[in-house]
Amino acid sequence: MSETKERIKTLILGSGPAGYTAAIYAARADLKPVIYTGMEPGGQLTTTTEVENFPGYPEGIDGPAMMVDLQKQAERFGTDVRIGMATAVNFSDEPGGIHEVTIDNNKVVEAESVIISTGATAKYLNIPSEQRLRGGGVSACAVCDGFFYKGQDVAIVGGGDTAAEEASYLSKICNKVTMLVRKDYLRASKAMQNRIMNIPNLDIRFNTEVDELLGEQVVEGLRMVNNQTGEKEEIEITGFFVAIGHKPNTEIFKGQLEMDQTGYIITRGKSTKTNKPGVFASGDVQDKEYRQAVTAAGTGCMAALDAERYLAEVETPEETTT
Ligand code: NDP
Repeated sequence: MSETKERIKTLILGSGPAGYTAAIYAARADLKPVIYTGMEPGGQLTTTTEVENFPGYPEGIDGPAMMVDLQKQAERFGTDVRIGMATAVNFSDEPGGIHEVTIDNNKVVEAESVIISTGATAKYLNIPSEQRLRGGGVSACAVCDGFFYKGQDVAIVGGGDTAAEEASYLSKICNKVTMLVRKDYLRASKAMQNRIMNIPNLDIRFNTEVDELLGEQVVEGLRMVNNQTGEKEEIEITGFFVAIGHKPNTEIFKGQLEMDQTGYIITRGKSTKTNKPGVFASGDVQDKEYRQAVTAAGTGCMAALDAERYLAEVETPEETTT
């Protein structure tokens, strides 16, 4: 097993805007970062079409293109980008201690500092018909899978920015899109609401929830229910998209790091410090409030600076000021 062990200075988990920004800063500070991309290299932005609100792109930029640029920028300064998934961790409690992270259940990386940027994952409704039909017409990513339903009728559930953005995207490629919103208003921002309110082939149903998806092997229809009147209605659809929020990817850190009730990692004050010395968290994994590419990138920068300062302190402890 010893040949599968490796000692490094800074390990970054996750390859969204937080992870790559941390890598850019860490590499420029000579922390020799190794980044493991996780299951979805590039993170959530690879499932977005256009990013219009990242400063510096007046015309907007494709999510996947932006992630390729971020990766190149991180590599330019020497970041070692690897495909792989952290499957277990053993974080040290001691300042200057070595943290062990198992990759893909076989390789152990020993790191002096760790930056966690593992992001968040889409939630599902968790009703039996939805679970049965995952892979058979149920998707949590319109941009990834919408193409398969070109010219067909589909439905989407959710009332936030993600649902609005995906409904708008689907309306451009599908014949008809029915959007189910459980409240009598959208949670999405005003700008996003304005974008979808008058799309002719988008039918927004307020106070409406999924009763059941219809079909055995593939989605054939949807029975929806009005939660005010109890009235049910069936429509024919071939694709069903879930856009009801996300869950932080923190399963493997349970019992090691302090988290809130939902599983978001708790960081100290305005820093990215976790409860373990030398372990930092940035991006959506510790932020349920803002969750933007630019804020994720900002906290990635902070995590690299925090790691740099931490390593300098533990290497010369007599100069420690905190
Ligand atoms: P949100 O948590 O903002 O919204 C989730 C939506 O799903 C809400 O309307 C919620 O309803 C609904 N919902 C939750 N659970 C269920 C359920 N079981 N059944 C039916 N409906 C349900 O998540 P988003 O992913 O939309 O957005 C996350 C964050 O990312 C937000 O801060 C958002 O602003 C941001 N974002 C920004 C974008 C941009 O700026 N371009 C694009 C996408 C996201 P209810 O309101 O009743 O709770």
